Amino acid sequence: MTTNTASTTTTVDEAASLAATAAPLLAASSPSTRAAWLEAVADALDGRGDELVALADEESHLGTARLTGEVARTTGQLRLFATVLRDGAFLEVVVDHADAAATPPKPELRRMLRPTGPVAVFSASNFPFAFSVAGGDTASALAAGCPVIVKAHSAHPRLSRLTAGIVTEALRDAGAPEGTFALVEGREQGTALVQHPAITAVGFTGSLAGGRALFDLASQRPAPIPFYGELGSTNPVVITAAALADGAEALARGLAGSFTLGVGQFCTNPGLVLVPAGSGFAELVADAASGTAAGRMLTPGIADAYASGTARAAAHPGVRTLLGGDAGAPESGVATVLATTAVTVLEDPAVLLEEIFGPATLVIEYADETELHAVLAAVGGALTATVHAAADEDVAELVSRLEPLAGRVLFGGWPTGVAVGWAQHHGGPWPATTSLHTSVGATAVRRFQRPIVYQDAPEHVLPEALHESNPLRLPRRVDGVLELPA
Ligand code: NAP
Repeated sequence: MTTNTASTTTTVDEAASLAATAAPLLAASSPSTRAAWLEAVADALDGRGDELVALADEESHLGTARLTGEVARTTGQLRLFATVLRDGAFLEVVVDHADAAATPPKPELRRMLRPTGPVAVFSASNFPFAFSVAGGDTASALAAGCPVIVKAHSAHPRLSRLTAGIVTEALRDAGAPEGTFALVEGREQGTALVQHPAITAVGFTGSLAGGRALFDLASQRPAPIPFYGELGSTNPVVITAAALADGAEALARGLAGSFTLGVGQFCTNPGLVLVPAGSGFAELVADAASGTAAGRMLTPGIADAYASGTARAAAHPGVRTLLGGDAGAPESGVATVLATTAVTVLEDPAVLLEEIFGPATLVIEYADETELHAVLAAVGGALTATVHAAADEDVAELVSRLEPLAGRVLFGGWPTGVAVGWAQHHGGPWPATTSLHTSVGATAVRRFQRPIVYQDAPEHVLPEALHESNPLRLPRRVDGVLELPA
């Protein structure tokens, strides 16, 4: 078998043609076969971890400790999807037997989720492993049974090529068909990829502007396709008076640690923090973050956007700058704490509720619940929303206002870490994402699956997963009753 391993990058036409040929082979592969492919990729990446981390550090400046952890997260993610495949529930098998005596008579229906076909994946700059070439989108699309073509991020081209070479070789050695995986590079290749007729869905992690441009392209195709964009987020945090009374300084330290982590370059950065007026909390946060060294940002473009975003907010007449506000070294991000009132935010939400990607947070003081609720109503969709309240405080009303805003609601703690597991949901209403799905956790696979029901089909034409004897021993619902394999 030949593969496109010799060159890790290729043209969109070449990659798409190979992916289209591979798609039916992947669709016919068993979940356990694909689980072995994912584990082979994870093992290969772990085996080259030091080399990968060194190169990632050169290109991203994120530091070897963080990057080593990110490789482990990435290979752990691949292995989680292997477990998801062996579990089998992701296929959502449902069987309704025929009932000729029913009125009207019922046909036999056998339903499951099938792979959509070749998937385009766009890497993000701020996670050179976990949201890049071998990251969650690639892992979940391969798990679904879809060939993957990754558009490399221009912020880490050499790492993308090295990772792609390792992934391609591991897949080939594990027996995956030619065309299962490919890498393309360059803006033009990226836009051509989204528009290529062979592509059936897109996974994207990145900025609101970039995601919107590619979402529009995906929608404007003669045959539009789903575009799963994970975009920016302001991640509001609400702190009650009772929580501050329980320990304002500890909360300030926790917030400072969260919004400055990784030079603030997390989509889950707590960018808006609502606190009672007159609490002095903003000053405590500024104090807690004052010792944070300015860090080099991922790209000059991100550093420029951070400098102009903080300057724009700081220049607002109703905003006080408590920390930061100076440019710092070129390409670096200086921790910035801004403070304002709910009334000011409500007068100018377009400026003050915009995401600033970097180590900045805006503390918003609310005079009463009416102001708090009004600001929450003006905040756009977010990946996370966090409540800090006293243990015995009734926050039901507050939670009912946060729940429509975000895909993950946290009680205590800080939103920057995103655990990879079965229950995780990393998503949220627009502009956090363009869909209802998650890009992290077991159910991320659902983005690249299409439901199909077979009516009165002879068994020999059905996928094995739908056979009456349940040869793959899948969990399934039969005539309305959930059956778990013994
Ligand atoms: P980005 O600049 O949007 O880049 C992402 C990808 O889109 C790159 O491949 C880029 O190509 C391409 N792209 C950007 N603009 C485009 C356009 N107009 N037309 C065609 N392609 C375009 O994003 P980033 O800098 O990597 O990431 C930072 C942002 O991602 C932050 O806003 C952060 O909040 C968000 N983020 C979100 C999540 C999440 O899960 N929701 C996770 C991490 C980050 P080039 O390589 O050529 O630039």
